[in-house]
Order: sequence, then structure tokens, then C-alpha cells
Amino acid sequence: MTSPKETITDGKVVFLHYVLTDVDGDIIDESTPDDPLAYIHGTGTLIPGMEEALAGRSVGEQFKVVIPPERGYGVRTTEGPKPVPRSAFPEGFEIVPGMQLDSEDEDGTETAIWIVDVEDDIVYIDTDHPLAGVTLQFDVSILTVRDATREELAHGHVHGAGGAHH
Ligand code: ZN
Repeated sequence: MTSPKETITDGKVVFLHYVLTDVDGDIIDESTPDDPLAYIHGTGTLIPGMEEALAGRSVGEQFKVVIPPERGYGVRTTEGPKPVPRSAFPEGFEIVPGMQLDSEDEDGTETAIWIVDVEDDIVYIDTDHPLAGVTLQFDVSILTVRDATREELAHGHVHGAGGAHH
């Protein structure tokens, strides 16, 4: 019996290389040759449009996919970054543009916020993902596909090379 070519279904560990650009072709992000993206399919790790595009694909496949904001990082829900005083953050806490934090309100509801810019005593924060509202173009090549181990499924992430070491 010949084993069928591994295709991507829920519970598979997938290693892939990608280049992410905007619609003008400007590179936003890309995997590096030594460090492919590793994820478990069907766990909601990737944006919905990416998991949809990868489902049923096989090792060695290369493809391009255009993902609208609705299937990517969402549409913008705010006007853009808003300024808050530096003193709203814990003293000694290093604030770096690009970092993501979880802010908790009085009810204990957690909201993700992104630091957009820091100017003296003013920090510009955004509750939308930096790529919200952006149409994404991915250039993908699938390197390996294998079954996830029971432990990986329990943890929701890949172990070993390219994944978590613990
Ligand atoms: Zn783990």
C-alpha cells in the first residue's frame, strides 16, 4: 500500500515558508530560510483566510492567495491610534512601538492593544491590529505536513524544531 501524499487537514502540523505583501507588493513580513512558520491546522492559529487557503494542499505546493481584511486581521473599528499619557502604564515598564499588550478594565475584560508610537510622555495606542483593514497577499510554499502528536494537540502548538522547546 502506498501512502498518499500528506495533505493539510485538521490536526496536521504544517511547516511553510511565506512572503506577506500588501496589494502594492511591498513586503510586510516573511519567514526566513532557517525559520519556517510551523502551526497546527484547524486550531485557529493562523488568520481564517490563510487556513482556508491551506486546507487540502499538499507538500511541495506553492501558491499565492489574496486575503481581504474580513478574513485577515479584521476591518478597522476605530479612527486610528489614540494618545494616552505615559503615566497610564506601570512605572519602569518599557514601551516599544509594535508591542502588543492586554489591557484589563474594571470588569476584568481583556482587550488587546497595540503600541503604535511613543513621543515623550504620550503613548499612541490602537485597539485594532496593525494589519486591520489591510488586504494581504501571501506567497506560500508548503515544506512538510505530518500528524500532530497528542501532546502538541493538547498544547495547541508545534514542538521541536521550529516550534516550542519545553
Ligand atoms: Zn507545548
